[in-house]
Amino acid sequence: MSHDHTPDHETPNPFATGIAGRCPRCGEGLLFTGFLKTASKCESCGLDLEFADSGDGPAIFIMFIVGFVVITLALLVNVVFNPPMWVHLLLWIPTTIILSLALLRPFKGIMIALQYRNDAREGQQTDDHA
Ligand SMILES: [Zn+2]
Repeated sequence: MSHDHTPDHETPNPFATGIAGRCPRCGEGLLFTGFLKTASKCESCGLDLEFADSGDGPAIFIMFIVGFVVITLALLVNVVFNPPMWVHLLLWIPTTIILSLALLRPFKGIMIALQYRNDAREGQQTDDHA
């Protein structure tokens, strides 16, 4: 195997693990036990995931993004096809719901992974000083 094996085995990419819904430390254990319920700890490496209570912040952020995307699409469709109002409702209500649900979990996973990485880095720094 002539693959370049970069020695950054410290933490997996937070975006990759977040989108995949995997543990931010080992990249193996599952981050979620329910659709958005985070596991209490990683079943693979034992990382305590209790810190990962990001509340409703991601949900509100997703609403803004999805709202912006859907309104932009709706305006485009309106200009190009000029459909009646019920077509808009039929198109955009399901689109909004599906997009929100599709984005919420990976986004929350990324938030948790970034949070874990920041915490880990701060922990290392204080350990060095001690
Ligand atoms: Zn783990």
